[in-house]
Amino acid sequence: MFDSKEQADTGKLSSWLNRLAESLDHYLDFKHDDAQTNPEIWLEKLDHSLPENGEGMGALVDEIQHTLLPNASVVPNPGFSSFITTGAANAALLASLSASVASPQRYGLTAYNFLEERSLEWLVELFGLPHSFKGVYSSGGSVANIVALGAARQQAFEARGIDPARDGILFPCRIFASDACHHTIQRAAAVLGMGRNAVQLIPTDTQGKMCVAALKTALEAPFDGIQVAIIANAGTTDTGAIDPFQEIATIASAHKVWLHIDGAYGLPGVLDKRIQHKYLGVAEADSISVDPHKWLGAPVGIGATFVKDRSLLYRAFTQEPADYLEGACYEDKVQHSMDSLGIPYAEFGVELSAPCRGVVVWALLKEVGRLGITARIVRHNDMANCIAERVRKHPNLELALEPELSICCFRYISANIADLNQLNRQIHRQLLKNGNNMPSTTLINGHVVIRPCFIGARADSSLADALVNEVLHIGSTLEPNQKDS
Ligand SMILES: *Cc1c(COP(=O)(O)O)cnc(C)c1O
Repeated sequence: MFDSKEQADTGKLSSWLNRLAESLDHYLDFKHDDAQTNPEIWLEKLDHSLPENGEGMGALVDEIQHTLLPNASVVPNPGFSSFITTGAANAALLASLSASVASPQRYGLTAYNFLEERSLEWLVELFGLPHSFKGVYSSGGSVANIVALGAARQQAFEARGIDPARDGILFPCRIFASDACHHTIQRAAAVLGMGRNAVQLIPTDTQGKMCVAALKTALEAPFDGIQVAIIANAGTTDTGAIDPFQEIATIASAHKVWLHIDGAYGLPGVLDKRIQHKYLGVAEADSISVDPHKWLGAPVGIGATFVKDRSLLYRAFTQEPADYLEGACYEDKVQHSMDSLGIPYAEFGVELSAPCRGVVVWALLKEVGRLGITARIVRHNDMANCIAERVRKHPNLELALEPELSICCFRYISANIADLNQLNRQIHRQLLKNGNNMPSTTLINGHVVIRPCFIGARADSSLADALVNEVLHIGSTLEPNQKDS
């Protein structure tokens, strides 16, 4: 171990890890106050300029233990059900740590890199997709959508004899997505040179699903340009709605337009046998994306795109030749792990240097298997249904939408209160303040609703009832007659 202030510690890890592990366990008890309870205390410790002299590992680990961890995020808290995000399961954390140490890149013929491809194959198998789907990892759903739309753009332009990756966008483009699509779709269109305005939003029905008739009309409308893709949702971000894939696939195929299914959140829902029929037609998509860092419990930074023809990705994202790569490998007689770079993932997406994400997904699936993941998905869907059930029965609660997956949108109602939006915002703020049940909110038909989304491996079933109880309790304390008494 280096003691010098000049030198980064590159010695033994175990004593540091032991020290940190204890603090991490303490953090995972979730007993500490929220980071905004006393921000001045940690700001005073952290808000400093660049140090001239290093303080060494001891002081650094101390600061992580005593200043950072007690003032860290509520996202991994079991009661956190905001947005679509959660903390990572332990298997993923250990795999991720081991890869940062031992496999910093996803090239070379190593055990870690073998798992990059194998884990993508496992995901295809897990979700019951045809084996023709081949994948590539990226940092998350945003980039996964860019990668998928890159393939769609490639195919659409190649059909006119143009290579858009080489020659650019020579025609106006159109992408069809429902008005409930994730807002990263427009950005993906912008990044790929088609422009945000290329995305034409198709209205959704009262269940939040794409109106198939409206999609048909939009595709049939005269357009002097290229129809690049239709994007359907396997679980919208707002309400978890699953689009009618079968019908959309039929339309896509009739119009010869690429079909992308954004399953960042909800693709794993296919494991729940009770709703499996809603996923019929997924296999007919040209590309599908899923975020292992959502429902599967990976640490943030792992998305996956699957396409039926990975050579399209290669043509969409290939780079010009580089001298430092030419001749770097001897693919013919492999005797060393660096004799071959392996599968050229860097040519299938927008990243060159990238962490080994496959090993993380592999670890998650290896630990609990298909049945374990399935049980979790089913349990989370049950939790949303349990809330819906209780909401239907209670006069002070109103269900905004029947849950399809693990999101349930509802609100508190009362004849004594005129501004229910204000009331539900107040209830939500109080929930966050109490820190036991932390859903987010959304707007449905102009109504502010409470929106829990259960995806965390740590979120146990009792939290569904607990949330309803707490909303009822807070709501009752905000009733006017309560204030007088
Ligand atoms: C979360 C989400 C995204 C964006 O994914 P990130 O991993 O946050 O980049 C895209 N589409 C849908 C449907 C999502 O739920």
